[in-house]
Amino acid sequence: MSDVNESFLELSGITKRFGDFVAVDDINLKIAEGEFFTLVGPSGSGKTTMIRMLVGMDQPSDGEMRLKGQVMNNLPANKRPTCMVFQSLALFPHKSVGENIEFSIKIAGQDKAARRTRVNQLMEQLRLPLSYYEKSVMQCSGGERQRVALARALAFDPDILFFDEPLSALDFRLRKALEKELKDIHRETGKTFVYITHSLEEAMVMSDRIAIMRQGRIVQVGTPHEIYNYPKNKFVAQFMGEVNTLAVKKSGKNKVKVVGGDDEFTVLDDLADFTTGFLIIRPEILKIGKAAAKMKNRIKGVAYNDYALGSRVQYQIIIDQFEEHWLVERLQDEPYEGRRGDMVEIGWQPADSILVSE
Ligand code: ATP
Repeated sequence: MSDVNESFLELSGITKRFGDFVAVDDINLKIAEGEFFTLVGPSGSGKTTMIRMLVGMDQPSDGEMRLKGQVMNNLPANKRPTCMVFQSLALFPHKSVGENIEFSIKIAGQDKAARRTRVNQLMEQLRLPLSYYEKSVMQCSGGERQRVALARALAFDPDILFFDEPLSALDFRLRKALEKELKDIHRETGKTFVYITHSLEEAMVMSDRIAIMRQGRIVQVGTPHEIYNYPKNKFVAQFMGEVNTLAVKKSGKNKVKVVGGDDEFTVLDDLADFTTGFLIIRPEILKIGKAAAKMKNRIKGVAYNDYALGSRVQYQIIIDQFEEHWLVERLQDEPYEGRRGDMVEIGWQPADSILVSE
């Protein structure tokens, strides 16, 4: 990844209004050359609107988009050095793999031999057997079609490739395999990838940096490590998956009290700037049963149910004073020794919880 300050792509104050409704609200962002950058957010957060403006399918109501220092607001889509890979992949169904890939090179007016050489290069790069040149895309698997769409996009030799949820329609296993493959292709091509998805998990696997969107605004930008370990607020923390969330208020140095309750927990923060907020405790860091006894923060509840989640088991714990059930996860080969219905202690160390604002 290169230095973000180089700002290959720079967005300043990008806003999109539809009548009175603000779909994208004052986005400022710098993306470096060669970066795998992902915009992630729930449905309606403005991701598609953003990418439509970036590729030139739509115009911002306000703000400026610069690519390599050049303003590209008014550049029509077909004049932009960018390319989009859609969720539908938008392949020509009645054409062969080769014909699909060479489409853009044909437009550029290259002769047949040069086209074939380039297509072969791209097929090799994307690990498509050269014998597929004549194969109909209709006869390709989901993963192969994905690679054909990518090869076709790369054939344009764009400065930036945009991806609009290309994996969301695929089944779980294929999606997982293609996430890694896409990251490998990114590495091999060195191109700048800008990706949108509603899945933070997917974003985490592939991205150098992630921007989390909510209601048209960017809530947090950071590396997967930063987002996971230092979520800025409750929305980001909860967007990442199942977490235990407690509304708390400061009750002393390094202490917070549950709002509307008596339970008090120790935190690592000095709480200088904190009055009220949320304590986030991930299910996987919670200890349960005997292992909880050594923890600084402890609480008792009833082991209600358990769920096998592949490599982990999740336990649901009912604690009288909390409306929400607590979730605890253990590795499958280190299960909790008790039984459903048992009174059990759960606990965690102050360093393992996260304090966030609303
Ligand atoms: P999803 O993940 O469901 O695709 P998204 O994050 O991509 O969602 P957008 O499609 O960008 O969200 O939409 C953002 C908001 O803007 C939504 O509330 C949507 O209804 C609204 N919107 C999008 N396009 C238009 C339009 N042409 N006219 C009016 N409102 C629009």
